[in-house]
Formats: sequence, C-alpha cells, structure tokens
Amino acid sequence: MIEKKCIWCLKSEHETDFFSKAHTIPKSLGGQNFNPNVCDVCNAYFGNRHEYNYSIEEALKEAFNITRIRLRNRKSKRKVGRFKSKFFEVKERKGKYRLTVKPSFRFNSEFQTTLCRAFKRGLYKMFFEELNRQKKVGFEKKYDLIRQFARYDMGNLPVFYFERSVGIIVGTDTEYITPVLIFNRMTYLHSTAGFEEIEFLGHVFGFPITDYTPNTFKSYMEQSIRLKKEFFKGAILINRMTDVDIVLSVMNG
Ligand SMILES: [Zn+2]
Repeated sequence: MIEKKCIWCLKSEHETDFFSKAHTIPKSLGGQNFNPNVCDVCNAYFGNRHEYNYSIEEALKEAFNITRIRLRNRKSKRKVGRFKSKFFEVKERKGKYRLTVKPSFRFNSEFQTTLCRAFKRGLYKMFFEELNRQKKVGFEKKYDLIRQFARYDMGNLPVFYFERSVGIIVGTDTEYITPVLIFNRMTYLHSTAGFEEIEFLGHVFGFPITDYTPNTFKSYMEQSIRLKKEFFKGAILINRMTDVDIVLSVMNG
C-alpha cells in the first residue's frame, strides 16, 4: 500500500493521523466529496475559529450560502431551509428575496479585509483539495505558495473576482443542492501554468497557483478578459468581502 501523505503539512501516516473525513467543499454547502490526503490536524485547522469568531470554512460558507439559496429557489418551488448565518439573513416574501445584514457584519475596512482574507484562504482550500482529488497533483513544490497562504496564514495571494454583465448560465438542477467544482468546464475559464480559474455556484474566480512575474500575470489577465468579454464586465482584485457579489444581484435584472 502506498503511504498516505497530507497535501497541506506533507506529513505521512507515520507522523500524523488520517481518521476524519475531510470534506473538500463544506458539508454545510452540500459538499459530498472527501479528500483522503488531508490529515486530522489540517482538517481541524480549517474548521477551528482561532482568533476570530469565524473559521476559514465558515468564511467560505457565509459567502456562498446566500448564492446557493438564491439559485436553488429560482429553479425549484421547494421551501427555503433555515439559513443559519452569523452575518446575513435571507427573507423570502412572495417569491422575492431580501437580504438583511446583521450587526455582526461590519463595513469597516479591518473587518472586511480580515473576513476577505479568510474567504480567500477558504477558496484556496476548496480548490486545492479538489485539485488533488480530481487530478492527483498537489504534493509538488510549486504549490508551496498555496500551502503557506491557506494553511499557514503566510503571505498574501491575489484573488480576482469576475463580475458578470449578464445573468448566470446554469449548470444542472442538482448543482445548487450538491455543488461541485469542475475544472475547465466553461469555455471562458482560462488557465495557464501559473494561474487557475474556477467557477463555483455561478461565481468565477482567478488566482495564482504558483510564483508569478508581472509579465506572466499580464498575459494571463489579458487573455482571460478577452475570453470573458461576452459575459463579464471585468475583474476585481478582492480585498473586501463586499467586492464579491454574494447575492448575485445580477440575477435581479
Ligand atoms: Zn496535515
């Protein structure tokens, strides 16, 4: 049997335990897949609250749960489940959705940048665990940058959010209930040796997966914008949680 190794801390079965099931996409978002190459310590790390009152996984969940509820209810008549959020409340009245922001969600820069950083790290976590599950890569040295940022809170990686200009193109009906992360599905998703793009619940993000230079970034971004011009307005470098259209307001039009 091949010895298990954790994609985050790179420890083997002899050095750490692999008992718990690590959901790649949070279970509370409907995630169904596990990654066996995530050790118990690293798995717990992403779910622990540390110094803030939310964990990396919760930051991710907060951002996507609203979208998930909105998408799910546009297609089906099924009643909205109770939405337990620390920051938001979604209220439905006569088929219309209204988002209420709770006082715990603050608009000051410090709160916004801290939450956004946790969200970005959560996005990398989900991406990296799915990348490893689907493509069997991740142990290579080139991914150390992802390990440092997502798992060890070191450095800062830029994440770009692509703003849609037209309504979202839907996948399958069940995708809102049990969301998946599919690589290279859409023709407008662009990836290079140094940058990757993902679409999750209708949101498109682009980010570096390894060291990059201003030139490699420039050529990636130019090509990416070109591919997206039909459906997207442009790219935003996210720094605040409010930079992401978590309610998919583009659907209101
Ligand atoms: Zn580990």
